[in-house]
Amino acid sequence: MDWKDFFRKIFLIDLIKGLRLTFSYQRPDAIYTEQYPLERPPVAERYRGAPRLNNHPESGETLCIACNLCSIACPENLIVVGWARTEDRKKRLTTFTYDLSRCMFCGLCEDACPVDALELTQDFEIANYSREGMIWDRQALEEGPKPARYTR
Ligand code: SF4
Ligand code: SF4
Repeated sequence: MDWKDFFRKIFLIDLIKGLRLTFSYQRPDAIYTEQYPLERPPVAERYRGAPRLNNHPESGETLCIACNLCSIACPENLIVVGWARTEDRKKRLTTFTYDLSRCMFCGLCEDACPVDALELTQDFEIANYSREGMIWDRQALEEGPKPARYTR
């Protein structure tokens, strides 16, 4: 050990350097407090949150063609798609349920959808007081998430 290392250990230079770095983050101007829920924090662009069943923007008709691919793709089997045949033998969506309590937001259902009807949105406020409340029906899915807006 040379003299330089010796004095470095005696005078705790490394410890002091570490403490200086730690306390540099305690400056009032370096402290940032998120004002949630008054200000919602931005989430990552590819974040997958509450689901939505998209309707056509002009006609308002559902984009879902009741192909059931999302349900088949889901490893949790939590999507149930109901349909009926019309007189011209076309499939029409009747019901759609999505059990959020079992969803792991992997996005496989969204990827499987051939018409971009099912979308996992960026809304992250999906807590509910009951298990039943976590099962979203077609109406809830078509209306999409309604994040609460808080004001003082
Ligand atoms: S995100 Fe994953 S777990 Fe959730 S419904 Fe879609 S496929 Fe199933
Ligand atoms: S994959 Fe898309 S179009 Fe097919 S049933 Fe699911 S949401 Fe509807």
